[in-house]
Amino acid sequence: MATSRTSAPVLIVGSGPAGLTAALYAARANLQPIVLEGTEAGGQLMLTTEVENYPGFPTGILGPELMGKMREQAERFGAEFVRADATKVELAGPPFRAWVEDVEYTGKALIISTGAKAKMLGLPGERQYLGRGVSTCATCDGFFYRSRELVVVGGGDSALEEATFLTRFATKVTVVHRRDRLRASKVMQDRAFANPKIEFEWNSTVTDVLGEQTVTGVRLRNVEDGSEKVLPVAGVFVAIGHTPNTDLFGGQVELDQAGYIVTPNPPSTATSVDGVFAAGDVVDHTYRQAVTAAGTGCAAAIDAERWLEAHGHDSGATTDNWD
Ligand code: NAP
Repeated sequence: MATSRTSAPVLIVGSGPAGLTAALYAARANLQPIVLEGTEAGGQLMLTTEVENYPGFPTGILGPELMGKMREQAERFGAEFVRADATKVELAGPPFRAWVEDVEYTGKALIISTGAKAKMLGLPGERQYLGRGVSTCATCDGFFYRSRELVVVGGGDSALEEATFLTRFATKVTVVHRRDRLRASKVMQDRAFANPKIEFEWNSTVTDVLGEQTVTGVRLRNVEDGSEKVLPVAGVFVAIGHTPNTDLFGGQVELDQAGYIVTPNPPSTATSVDGVFAAGDVVDHTYRQAVTAAGTGCAAAIDAERWLEAHGHDSGATTDNWD
């Protein structure tokens, strides 16, 4: 649904926990934000089931329900939402411009909260069982696999960190890696090799995720000799890296080597472009939690508010036609 306004003191691109918290704070500061929320609004939590580690929900909450509540809360204070993907941005501002096809939206300040997506293997079963045995977040879902056997796919720090974490719950965790050598740092390798619950399937790829209602196993293929086998497991954690959603911004704001937006003076969320702030997983290599994304979203809204104030914006003013 399109908003009636196309310009605002604060324009927000992205609607996961970071974008929605930024929208809530900006709205309560009377900055009437417009949020380009994307066609797949709500971010990565829309792909999860039960969320048990978001504070304030002692019995847990479904990911989509949590995002729905955050959106409702921001809307209550005047945030407006555009259910479409930004197709182009122009960061030579202020005002900063973003387009949805040929409709132009402007913000005197801009908050980027477009998130990241977990890289997936691209297997049909993987998509089918996402949230029902396939996961990309051990911290989020490990708890559901008490006394079960699991597979972690990948050979980097994430894979070994997830595998090590999962041994708190699982009886056995098999790391499936496509080579015979890990990419992970030595300290992580040492820790994993010393853990009696972790085993390795070297030179192997997952070729299929098997299941009924939920995952029951994976089919593995040895890349050296082509042999196949089925490993019966209750869960598959895909840990082959993340991709930040920054295609729109390349060349206009500083990105690091992996494509994440750089905020050079933390805890400030300011980017290399004055008046442009970034929050959530689009910045964060490290924590990638809904609650940390929400925290930086809050910080971005406060940073934007202070920046606007310093640049003569009166938040009591009417906000139409900023440019
Ligand atoms: P990463 O370092 O890029 O490792 C990805 C792993 O997945 C690699 O082992 C890679 O195999 C494998 N892989 C990639 N695509 C695959 C595919 N299609 N099929 C099968 N395997 C595939 O990613 P990451 O582990 O998420 O780490 C990202 C960054 O965050 C790194 O800089 C890492 O050090 C950092 N990190 C640090 C910590 C920590 O210090 N606590 C924790 C997590 C992450 P190859 O090795 O064959 O390429």
